[in-house]
Order: sequence, then structure tokens, then C-alpha cells
Amino acid sequence: MKKLILLSISLILTACSSDPSQDTITVFTNVNVIPMDSEQVLMDQTVIIDGDRIVDLVPSDEITLPPGAAIIDGSGKYLMPGLAEMHGHVPPTDPGPDTPDYFDDEYVESTLFLYISAGITTVRGMLGYENQLELKDRVNSGELVGPNLYLAGPSFNGNTISSPEQAAERVREHKEEGWDLLKVHPGLSLEEYDAMAETAHEVGITFGGHVPEEVGVIHAIESGQITIDHVDGYVNYLQQFGNEEMEEKLAEVIQLTKEHNVWIVPTMALWETIIGAADFETMKQYDELKYIPKAVKQNYFNFADNPQSGYTSENPQAHAELRRQILDEMNKAGVKILMGTDAPQLFSVPGFSIHRELPHMKAGGMSNYEIIKSGTKNVGEYFAQQDDFGTIAEGQRADLILLAGNPMEDLSHIQNHLGVMVQGKWYSREMIDNKLKEIEAYYAE
Ligand SMILES: [Zn+2]
Repeated sequence: MKKLILLSISLILTACSSDPSQDTITVFTNVNVIPMDSEQVLMDQTVIIDGDRIVDLVPSDEITLPPGAAIIDGSGKYLMPGLAEMHGHVPPTDPGPDTPDYFDDEYVESTLFLYISAGITTVRGMLGYENQLELKDRVNSGELVGPNLYLAGPSFNGNTISSPEQAAERVREHKEEGWDLLKVHPGLSLEEYDAMAETAHEVGITFGGHVPEEVGVIHAIESGQITIDHVDGYVNYLQQFGNEEMEEKLAEVIQLTKEHNVWIVPTMALWETIIGAADFETMKQYDELKYIPKAVKQNYFNFADNPQSGYTSENPQAHAELRRQILDEMNKAGVKILMGTDAPQLFSVPGFSIHRELPHMKAGGMSNYEIIKSGTKNVGEYFAQQDDFGTIAEGQRADLILLAGNPMEDLSHIQNHLGVMVQGKWYSREMIDNKLKEIEAYYAE
């Protein structure tokens, strides 16, 4: 069975010669393009992909098709940039003696595929493991099927860091090893955090993630933390004030967030789960649970039956409402939001969890355009130093999703896509569905 899965992934890449993924030049003809550079639709365009780049985007009546190109008929369809999971996780490739047995090659490969299957073409991995940089190279070079990976190193937390000197040394190590950013977890002391932040600025590496309690959100913002994920740092800060003062403090902290160009990864759906505000009976029925190992599913169910975590709230619905209010105010004020779900955390099946997150972002006051932007254009801006992607334009990396309808009118078109392109490689709906069936069969055993 293990062999079968690995084999079929390579089959996807070497399928019959009519398969557009085999040709260097692929053309989407007569397609309506959602470029995401602004809120507009460009009707009836031809988009030419050469290698991993978009090389042309022109009205269909102004172009002669390059000879020998693989054609994907886009008539009546829509093309948008691929989405990103900006707080995602990729399982370790080298599980230690204490890790459960489902942490195998298939779990890594199926996790990577699940992201693509849902239109997620970029993942910012938010917890590094040993040898994961090798995995990143294998994926980004096209040897393994997966979304473009940018990876945080192993976590900075109360267990891994015991002094400011050690924090500083670890920053230098992570920079040298080639991680894309540092992952901040709870438990760091203020002195350790400051040493990490100072050294990070000195050597030129960003840091993001949680806000350690001793640090607090104000200091994290002022220290130049690049992303503040989960919004809980804001909630903790605001909850010390009474209702009236809270509004004023929220406006102040939002202003500070903007001034320091801090990005927010709200992970709204996960946090409703973690604080105990979610509808667990509905979540237990999620169809996508068939694509993950039984043991992972069992962990989710155990939590649902007894929701306990360091974050469980006494009044979860009021807590969830405050979170929506914070997101709403941030979005209105123009704070830069990034799409993310913390997959595969509780009930967040990689890829599928993004589609579970979208209604929560909407409930937090974001428009369809703003939601899509948080997973496309904003991501390109965030990674502007590394590559050009996140919009549809000449020179951009060819990460695309083909849809039956306009996603700005109805976000569900994204989940019901007709195919996904990653770095110029095309995965049709049919290929994706076949592969999903194999993953389902593998975990049904
Ligand atoms: Zn996480």
C-alpha cells in the first residue's frame, strides 16, 4: 500500500502526453482573470505559462497561440492566483522514537498533496523539524509534489531556550541553516525574547508566531515581530480593560500594529475550537476527516468530547465575538491580514481548513475580495524578497486556480475548483480527485 501511494504521485507527474503538466508552455484560453492587483475581473483573456512563470496575459482577440503549447480551454471560467496557508504545518520527515507511527513518508506526502488539492499553492510552515530544509528543497525544485514551502525553524519557547545568550546563538544558527523565519512560541522570558529580536534584526531574519505572556502584544509589535498569529495576544491585552476603555485601547493597539507593519494571521476557526466556542458535533461530521490518519482524527474527537486547553474560555461565545470585533476593526483600519488556519491542528485538515476559515473571516467583517487578497496579493507582498507571486501578471510565479464561477461573488467556487497549477505544473480536477480517493483508501485501512 505504501508503495502504491508513492508510485501514484509520480504517475500524476508522468501521465499521458496530452497532460499539460508535461509541456513547458501551457495556455489558458478565453478565461476571465481575477488578477488580484485590484478588485477587477479581466474578461476573455489568454494567459501563457512558460516553465514556472506567467509570461503573457492579453485579451484573447489580440493573440496568436504559440505552436505546440498545451491548451486549457477557459471559456466561461475564471482564473485566480493560488491561495496560501500562512500558518501551516508540515509533518517531520525524520520522526524520533517518541513520535506516533503515522508520522511516515506517506503522511508527509499526503499532507503536501492535500494542500494542493484545495488550491493552496504556498505554505508558510510554522514549526521546523530536523531535515525539513531538505524537504523544502525537494518540493520547491519539483522533485516532490507539494505547495511552495517557506519554513520557520524549530520553535523558540520556554523549553528550548533557557537564557538570552542561548536565544541569540540559536538565531544565528537558524539564519545560517537557511530557515525563512524564526518561530516564536509561548514561554520565552522578556530577556530571551529581546535577545532573540535584537539578534534577528542584526543578522536579517524575521520572527513571527505567538506572543509570549511575559512579552505582551505591545512589546512584540514594537520589537518588530513580523506576524502576530491567532490574535490571542491582542485579546489578552484588551481583556485587562473595562468595556469603555477597551474600545480606545483597541484603536490604539491597531494604530501601533499599522505603524510597525505587523501582519496578522487570525486563524479564527481554530481559535473558536480551542476556546470551546465551536460546534463540535458538526465538525465531527467533516467529510475531509477521511483524508487523515485515524490517530489524528481520534485526537480531534478526544478534544471535542472534553475541550480542555490552556486557552479554553469561561464564556466562549463572548470571547469569539470579541475576536470577530478585533478582526473587523483591524480590517477596517487597513491592518494587513494573512490567510491561515494552523493545519493540521484540531479539525483543520490541511487545505480543506482554509475553506472552513473563509466564513469566519467573513463573519469578522471582511469582504470576499479582502479575504481572497489575504491569501494571494498580501502573501506575495509578505514574501516579496523571496519571489514574485500572489497576483496574475507577467513575471509572476504560475500558481493558479481555475474556477467555474467568479469567487468574488461566491467564495465556494474556490473549493469547487476545476484544477490547480503550482509552479506551472497543472493538476486537473480529475487527477486531484483520483489522488484523494487513494489517500482516503490508504487511511481507511
Ligand atoms: Zn501552529
